[in-house]
Amino acid sequence: MTRREVRCLGPYGGEVEDTGCGEPARFELVRHRRPPLHLCPVHLGPALLLADGVLWPPEIRLIA
Ligand SMILES: [Zn+2]
Repeated sequence: MTRREVRCLGPYGGEVEDTGCGEPARFELVRHRRPPLHLCPVHLGPALLLADGVLWPPEIRLIA
């Protein structure tokens, strides 16, 4: 895997104004028919409950 800095876009993936984050993302949250969300630890929990298209049970990948 190539090492690149991925930034967290907040619990809505940047789709809602003023909810962005900018911290380095540690998790990738898979969504149904939408691009995956890249999330920092703080926003992983909120995104599970707030983001559109989240699978249940959630499918989460660790970004190395
Ligand atoms: Zn964040």
